[in-house]
This record gives sequence, C-alpha cells and structure tokens, in this order.
Amino acid sequence: MGVDPGLKIGEKVNLQKIREIFQCGSMGGMLPVNRTNVMVIIADHTLDFYHDKWKDGILYYTGTGKIGDQQLDGNPGYKNGKLYHSKTNGMQLHLFEILKKREYIYRGIVVLANQPYQEEQLDENGVKRKVWIFPLKLVEEELKLDLLDDQTIMTSLASVQDKDLPFHFSYNGKPKDKGKPVVIDKIEIYKRDRKISLNALAYARFECEIDRTHESFIRKNSNTNYTEPHHLVPMAFQNNFSVSLDVEENIVSLCSNCHNLLHYGRDYLFLLKRLYESRKNLLKKVGIDITFERLIQMYQ
Ligand SMILES: [Zn+2]
Repeated sequence: MGVDPGLKIGEKVNLQKIREIFQCGSMGGMLPVNRTNVMVIIADHTLDFYHDKWKDGILYYTGTGKIGDQQLDGNPGYKNGKLYHSKTNGMQLHLFEILKKREYIYRGIVVLANQPYQEEQLDENGVKRKVWIFPLKLVEEELKLDLLDDQTIMTSLASVQDKDLPFHFSYNGKPKDKGKPVVIDKIEIYKRDRKISLNALAYARFECEIDRTHESFIRKNSNTNYTEPHHLVPMAFQNNFSVSLDVEENIVSLCSNCHNLLHYGRDYLFLLKRLYESRKNLLKKVGIDITFERLIQMYQ
C-alpha cells in the first residue's frame, strides 16, 4: 500500500491539495489514512508550541497531544502509536513542512531513523509533561546519495588494473563493525569500501554468480572479466543493522545484465532467491540475519 502523491520534492501546496491527494483529515500534524496505510506528517515551524528540529539530517518530531503526557494509544495517542510501530506496520510516511503560514512544502517519504523516545516538555497550560519524540529521516535523498556511492565504486572498479587485484582473499566469517556514517548535506550515509567490493569480485573469479557462463567482456586495463559488485542486503538499510553490510559475504558479482535485472526488472525475484540461498549462511556468520521475506521488502 501507499500513495504516489505526484508531487516534486520541495513543491509547495495548500492543505486542500494534501487532503485531495491523500484523502486524509485536516486536524493536527499527524494525519493517518487506514485505507492506504499512509500517514501525512506536518512539521509546522510557525507554531511556538511544538519544537520540531533538524539535526544532522534527522527531524526530531514531537508526537501529538497538547495536554498531559502523550500516549501511544487512545485518541489522539493512537496516531503516535501508529508512527511508533511504522517500521513493522509498514505505514508509509509523507512529510510536509510549514515555514510560512498555509504553505506546505513537500519533503518526501520519511522513515524512523532511530527508536522513538520520551522527553519532558511543557504542555499548553505550562505544566511539565512527557512527550514522544520521533527521529525521522528522508528516504529519497538518502537513496539518491546511496545510489551515487554505488555508482562511484562501480566506476572506480571498471578501471581496475591487474596490480590492484587481491590474490589471496578468503572470507573471514566474522561480523564487522559498521563504523560511522559520513554526513553529506545533513544526510548520513555509510560509504562502501572499494577494496572490499574488489575482494568479492575476485573471489567470484569475476564471473556472474547467477550463471558463471554469462557473457561479459574483458576490462580495459586488466585481464579480468567485467562484472559489477552488488550488495545483496542493500547498503541503504545499514541503519537497520548493528554490523556492517559492507563485507565480502554480502557482495555478489554480477554481469551488467543480471545487475540491471535485479534493480529494474519485473522478474527480479528469481535472481534474488538464488542469490539469497547461496549466501544466507555466510550472511548469518557475519551477523546479517535476514529472512527472504524481509529481503524482498527491501527490494520493493
Ligand atoms: Zn548474469
């Protein structure tokens, strides 16, 4: 489920338009729609009352409920509950921000960046109470940067030379620390290591792991066959794991055709299943424990 609003990121609309697109209500900053499993989230920076703040690419969004402790159930607390469980209930979250009265700026789809938590704030009557804070991050910007990093590695590996090739690589079978993300334009991404992708390709003898007879071509500056590295569990989901996804065990070597099919093809499931079956035990060893169902969700 979900809604394609047909809006450009940064496009300014009014509330009426939002209601038409999402078929949502108009009261408050959290507007869930059960039928489509969507929630419109509005961060209104013109209000003195809520203090939604951006920091390092994360919007710390205050839950709903103006008086007393904010709840995760009841009314309007159930909206907080839906957002709290959005990673498991699959609810699609669309963020709008208001910087100028009645002007809603579309920011795109967001997801929980971290576990929601409670903090103390004053309520409408100036009484101290507990509110829920939801750390939210933009998905589309993150995916764009992630794709860019993927492209960078591919380009850099395309010109690999024989002297760069690892001759004695083998899996070490241990979970790796995921390290710190790099912050670009307030968005955190986990960078790929060129060397690790190269190891993975070399380990696969620069053949396509879907079918080793798939034809490719010889690289310009090396005697090796051209294949592309692909992170089976996508790097864009690094935040959901406590260990690094940038490990040889999670990188498969694919011919360009299979790689594109996996990303853009209608029949990608067959390929994904084959790769998953061949890697699931290796992945478990390095702490990447994932079901096929969850992996499919990541590719949708
Ligand atoms: Zn192939």
